[in-house]
Amino acid sequence: MLSYQHGYHAGNFADVHKHTALCLLLRDLARQSSPFFFIDTHAGRGRYDLSGPQARKTGEWKDGIGRIWAMKVASEGLALYLSTVRAVNGGGALRTYPGSPLIAARLARPVDEIVAAELHPAELTALKRALAAFADVRIERRDGFDALAALTPPAAGRGLALIDPSYELKDDYARVPASVGRALARWPDGIFAAWYPILPEGRHQDLLAGFGRLAGAGIPVAVAELHRPAPGRGLAGTGLAVVNPPPGFEAAQEAASAEMADFLFKGAGRHGVRQLTGS
Ligand code: SAM
Repeated sequence: MLSYQHGYHAGNFADVHKHTALCLLLRDLARQSSPFFFIDTHAGRGRYDLSGPQARKTGEWKDGIGRIWAMKVASEGLALYLSTVRAVNGGGALRTYPGSPLIAARLARPVDEIVAAELHPAELTALKRALAAFADVRIERRDGFDALAALTPPAAGRGLALIDPSYELKDDYARVPASVGRALARWPDGIFAAWYPILPEGRHQDLLAGFGRLAGAGIPVAVAELHRPAPGRGLAGTGLAVVNPPPGFEAAQEAASAEMADFLFKGAGRHGVRQLTGS
């Protein structure tokens, strides 16, 4: 049984970066009136209490959403992200942090199809509670990679898969791009966003090599990263590989990342969005 629980990390700088990109991708899909499909392969519990024991133990959110919450932001990505987090808090003080399935449920329309897969029993129970108001969201207790294989291509034709494992299993660094490659063979127009941690061991290079092979086969892959200025223990940075990014995504995520670096790291740290070239 895997032990990772996202409550220790919810709202940290990696979530700010990942969830801003998620907001931009969903907002882009919602611009067209036809329905879209969204699958969250590793959904988590959907809603995180920032005064709960897990959040209190690490306090990671204070160096993430906590630093941005009261700011006036200029980039469309951060503005959209903040308005989503603020809406979850009912316009009041910051108490609750939305996970990816709750963000998606809020940005999707009734015509869209949303599926959230989660394996951890306690997280699954909490997820069902967090999304109780969104009866149309399908929550499945199943392996996220199996769900991606079984549910794509979707009937809607267009859409997004968020692949956000905990990387407790080191195989995940190779498994993520491999499963995206197989899904692309069935669903070439799908957008796939895969999160990865940047750790001192550098295992994310295996994942980037896998996505590089897709780029080498002519598939557009953008990589967005945000690195802490003085990495110590734990996360040195955060990354997202986006296959088939929609037009405008890279510029919008770049502008949002520059603003994040200002608010989170006082302008230090490194950030950027680049196209992967084939390997
Ligand atoms: N996507 C969430 C967000 O952004 O709010 C965070 C997800 S967290 C990083 C990873 C989640 O995947 C954990 O809740 C874990 O229980 C779950 N998980 C681990 N292995 C899984 C698997 N094989 N299939 C589905 N979920 C899994």
